[in-house]
Amino acid sequence: MQENMLKYLLPMDTHVEQVLLDDGDVQAMFDLHKCQGTSFINLQVHAVDTRCLSTHASRQSGDPQPLDRIHSVGQVFRSKELLQMELTNYAIARGFNWKYLKNDSVRLTVRCNVAVCPWRLHAFVIREGPQFAIKSLNNIHSCGCDIMSYGHPQTSKKWVANAVKGKLVDKPTYRASEMMRDIRRDYGISIPYHQAWWGKEVAVSSLYGDFRTSYHMLNWYSERALQSNPGSVLSLEVGPETKRFKRFFICFQASAYVFEHRVQGVILAASVLNGNNELFTVAYSIADSETYDNWVWFLQILKKALLSDRRITFLSDRGKGLKEAIPDIFSNDHHGYCFQHIIHNFNDQCAGKYAAPFKK
Ligand SMILES: [Zn+2]
Repeated sequence: MQENMLKYLLPMDTHVEQVLLDDGDVQAMFDLHKCQGTSFINLQVHAVDTRCLSTHASRQSGDPQPLDRIHSVGQVFRSKELLQMELTNYAIARGFNWKYLKNDSVRLTVRCNVAVCPWRLHAFVIREGPQFAIKSLNNIHSCGCDIMSYGHPQTSKKWVANAVKGKLVDKPTYRASEMMRDIRRDYGISIPYHQAWWGKEVAVSSLYGDFRTSYHMLNWYSERALQSNPGSVLSLEVGPETKRFKRFFICFQASAYVFEHRVQGVILAASVLNGNNELFTVAYSIADSETYDNWVWFLQILKKALLSDRRITFLSDRGKGLKEAIPDIFSNDHHGYCFQHIIHNFNDQCAGKYAAPFKK
């Protein structure tokens, strides 16, 4: 069974392929090309054989377990590279290493690294290729690999990236420590933290393009944001010589309007401290007033948006309804109070009586 996958090359960086999955992607492709003033689109149709074991990343979550990846004579792989990748997965999960006896464009013959062990695999190209099929397989080991488990020489950041790609598509906040846990469960081996971390970096950049490409998208974003928010001011500046990103100013028309006119309502917002101790806004909403009900609504949506199971420490001003809403919605997380606000409240409520030492 074959299905087609559409890809196009980004007009600003023709080394980067972008997959078209839905109408939104098609629209973004036209917008990007219009924005760059290009006269043609480099569109490619890739045939994906769904019988083969590795299709593109978003389908990997339903893939067979590593120990089922190599099983019988007649098994077909989309290419020799994919066969080698599955062989790596299989060998890591089963705990053996292999030696190449033949490795060229038309055949691949490998044996278990332990010379006396009978395990062998021989695969041959199908017609002119690029597909490969297993022609003979002795799947029995006498080397004892099935009962041993420790690290494996074939693990690398590239291997880790391939092993976790599918999961990363479903869960972008997938952490290195979770990857270590899942690899231990699926392959029975322990990998060091740095290898998991680098593997994630490799997987993320192959899935979403590198950060350099994201900067290219700012031109497109600017134009689209202006189209949908007429009257806004967006100013993107690049270095005159380097042509590199310098700064980006955004003021939406609605925000400017609120500043000029008296508008009723309050803004409920959540910010985080980044690694440099700087504030970064994660989410904000506009509501009629600060109430328990509004905070519960805000926090419920925030919880969905965060996608993460990591523990959070909230720091609040104990605003109306917020003090009760945080433990109700984020019951497993911590909640601290801003000391500055506690001092102010204390001064306001106990002025004249106990406040003298705090006024200094
Ligand atoms: Zn063996």
